Amino acid sequence: MSSSPQQDRPTLADLERGQPFADRHVGPRPDELAQMLETLGVADLDALAARALPDAIRDPEPVGASLPAPAGEEEMLAELGELAARNTVTVPMIGLGYHGTRTPPVIRRNVLENPAWYTAYTPYQPEISQGRLEALLAFQTMVSDLTGLPVAGASLLDEATAAAEAMTLLRRAGRSRSPRFVVDADTLPQTLDVLRTRAEPLGIELEIADLSGDTLPEGEFFGLLLSYPGASGRITDPAGLIEAAHDRGALVAVAADLLALTVLTPPGELGADAAVGSTQRFGVPLGFGGPHAAYLAVGQKQARQLPGRLVGVSRDADGHYALRLALQTREQHIRREKATSNICTAQVLLAVMAACYAVYHGPDGLRSIAQRTHRMSAVLAAGLRSGGVEIAHEHFFDTVLARVPGRASAVVDAAHDAGIALRKVSADEVGVSTSELTTVAHLQAVWSAFGVGEPAVDELDAATADALPEPLRRTSEYLTHPTFHEFRSETALMRWLRRLADADLALDRTMIPLGSCTMKLNAAAEMEAVTWPQFCDLHPFAPEADTAGTREMITQLETWLADLTGYAAVSLQPNAGSQGEFAGLLAIAAYHRSRGQTERDVCLIPASAHGTNAASAIMAGMRVVVVGTDAQGNVDLDDLRAKVAEHGDRLSALMITYPSTHGVYEAQVREVCGAVHEAGGQVYVDGANLNALVGVARPGAFGGDVSHLNLHKTFCIPHGGGGPGVGPVAVAEHLAPFLPGAGEVGPVSAARYGSPGVLPISWAYVRMMGLDGMRRATLTAVAAANYVARRLEGHYPVLYSGVDGSVAHECILDLRTITKDTGVTVDDVAKRLIDHGIHAPTMSFPVAGTLMVEPTESEDLPEIERFVQAMISIKGEIDRVAAGEWPADDNPLRNAPHTAACLADDKWDHPYPRELAAYPTGGTPGVHDRKVWPPVRRIDGAHGDRNLVCSCPPPDAFA
Ligand SMILES: *Cc1c(COP(=O)(O)O)cnc(C)c1O
Repeated sequence: MSSSPQQDRPTLADLERGQPFADRHVGPRPDELAQMLETLGVADLDALAARALPDAIRDPEPVGASLPAPAGEEEMLAELGELAARNTVTVPMIGLGYHGTRTPPVIRRNVLENPAWYTAYTPYQPEISQGRLEALLAFQTMVSDLTGLPVAGASLLDEATAAAEAMTLLRRAGRSRSPRFVVDADTLPQTLDVLRTRAEPLGIELEIADLSGDTLPEGEFFGLLLSYPGASGRITDPAGLIEAAHDRGALVAVAADLLALTVLTPPGELGADAAVGSTQRFGVPLGFGGPHAAYLAVGQKQARQLPGRLVGVSRDADGHYALRLALQTREQHIRREKATSNICTAQVLLAVMAACYAVYHGPDGLRSIAQRTHRMSAVLAAGLRSGGVEIAHEHFFDTVLARVPGRASAVVDAAHDAGIALRKVSADEVGVSTSELTTVAHLQAVWSAFGVGEPAVDELDAATADALPEPLRRTSEYLTHPTFHEFRSETALMRWLRRLADADLALDRTMIPLGSCTMKLNAAAEMEAVTWPQFCDLHPFAPEADTAGTREMITQLETWLADLTGYAAVSLQPNAGSQGEFAGLLAIAAYHRSRGQTERDVCLIPASAHGTNAASAIMAGMRVVVVGTDAQGNVDLDDLRAKVAEHGDRLSALMITYPSTHGVYEAQVREVCGAVHEAGGQVYVDGANLNALVGVARPGAFGGDVSHLNLHKTFCIPHGGGGPGVGPVAVAEHLAPFLPGAGEVGPVSAARYGSPGVLPISWAYVRMMGLDGMRRATLTAVAAANYVARRLEGHYPVLYSGVDGSVAHECILDLRTITKDTGVTVDDVAKRLIDHGIHAPTMSFPVAGTLMVEPTESEDLPEIERFVQAMISIKGEIDRVAAGEWPADDNPLRNAPHTAACLADDKWDHPYPRELAAYPTGGTPGVHDRKVWPPVRRIDGAHGDRNLVCSCPPPDAFA
């Protein structure tokens, strides 16, 4: 059969290109979108843009010239593969806080590559987060046992920032009024750098002191940081210095390697007040520097001073064991400028991995990994000595410092030729660090690089004693809890991980309409390269030539992000939004200083701002002045002008979020920025809501001088249950010299590029979506939020809207009147949604007593409707409470969520049927049943705070 060549059919090029990725990323199908737009009364997305976006932010300039045309999934992966191929992976023996480790495949596949774990949100809704809370409790127990300190938080961002947090914690907790902080000179260089950056704006005087003589510097100081082992590998007994510091009224933190602590006396037993470090070598890939979970452990007295999140044991409404975040949950939102730190997103997924590693290996497994690591370095040192090489230290755990006068470069180069990366310490010294990956073959290659013959390994091994100081050998037990003994076969661990994941509601089961958090699709193709060895096995201090591919990817991503935001330069270093805020404010402060305007220290922040804003401003040494909002939720221009006038020459910056945290495109944003600029201030635009702007407007073009973005919101890095994140800071030309690590301002993260291990995700998203795809995503997200607002406005008042009654990418449902009239609270609604199998929206931020809904572009209409129907059903139940049909303290809302156990109980004396409790909108029996059974009932948080337990309780606690 022949047909006419003119037939209406796709071209060969179209067919080859296939379905654009944007069609997969964007949830609503064309007919669904049409239906949503019809509900909104607009013809298409352009018409929606014309209506929802104020003229003031429209971009006169063409956006996104640097972005290539979108690639399909395979094309993108092929390109990324080419970049990966330009990296050279070597055996990592550089050390400096980053070590070779083997991620057990059962953990890689079931956690790192499993959407049930990586797409979860921060566990603020504990009833549907028991799985990751249990894993984090294991993390805290592991850190607490190994450090010998009773309380550990659920992860910090990296070792260097953890040390900085310890510094400020000691200052708050101690009695000394001295501004001085003494730091062991044998501390990781990146930690010293970050400490300098963090100390300066707070007026803390750092004193880097050589403590090898076991004497402290003269004069008063509030705190001391020791390294154990030191960056050079040296181990000395810190007990004497700790005691001396205590005698002088100071508190002491110890930076310690957790693996070494399986064989060394822990800091807690040596008298330390705090311990910090990284958990990277517990099965978390190097990733060119991150993401990895850091830890901070303290004594019971300092528990309430801990930054970040702390998981604690509590009980549910039926008195059963249940977990939730303790004490300072969302503390920035409550304490704002008085918060202990600005940490919000942390490193949960990596903390879970590290905990799983400890659970899988158990104490004996960890001890033998430590033994292998140590014996490899002891034998390595013996072999070098036998060949006439001087070894600097008698005692070490895993790092051998070799003296090779004038030959360091030659040795390092020779090792590199053999595929091994060593550390060139100076022209005369080489550092070699061993790990669980080190083999005898590696030792031989290293010996040969040093020009040491071929030592007989077995004889050396037999003849060489350990290089650990005998008095410091660990005698205390650790990881005695059953959790670290019960899951040692792969079957047992796999089932444990599955059981925990099943307790949680992540994006793989439901939409998570969390306002401000942008829980959108994390596509499989985007995740793919994260575990490619060429990316994930790079050491952050690998030679430049070995990392060309990753650095090229980073440069491209920086260029694209600068283009999309309208700024001149971007740094990907900050490893969370909060850290981007801090970096951005430091840039502003340094800019003013460079112009001789050192007195500018006032930071204006609207009342509705995210809590991290105020906390970051304090860290940057600024004074926070709150600006009011008007009845429409916009920045109150009169109040702003008054505050600008009042502070005049002391005005440093204004931080605003755009669109606002109220989910509105404020039409007057240019006036707001103008008022600040006229007074000589700088404008910080918090870019957490960039999902409402990408491809349609640019903060750098409508008045911002600097912004941070959250790649874990807008650019598809999964939330991981509360991290990792990446918070790039983007600046206008005049601030570019003040980016972190660019020269004028020091680094804000341990690794130069923060968390490069997850950057392929955002790179892949931009590469596959292209400019048009992202614009479509933005406007679809706006359409979805407006659709939800429209569908629910008859049931719940929508609090704020902007021009023409539209919201931006999220909407706030106001329950305050309902609560006043009926007693039903936002909590009741959030918990009842669990019975529907849906994750709650953001609760009580930015306005107490409200729910903020952000559906994102990735949810299709049936899923949005499932949420809408659940909310309407809940409103029907609220009405029955209001009508007096059910008492305010005994109804399906107040008693939610309902567990299978509570429904199966022979006793049921509630005024509503069990069936309604379990299936509020009716069931769908068979395989289509989407019922989710929460493992616990509503959790009593206050009980846990009164009886603080932050590590795995002994099994008899359950008796
Ligand atoms: C999420 C968020 C932040 C903080 O970002 P993290 O990555 O969690 O540190 C700051 N501002 C706003 C408006 C946010 O939504």
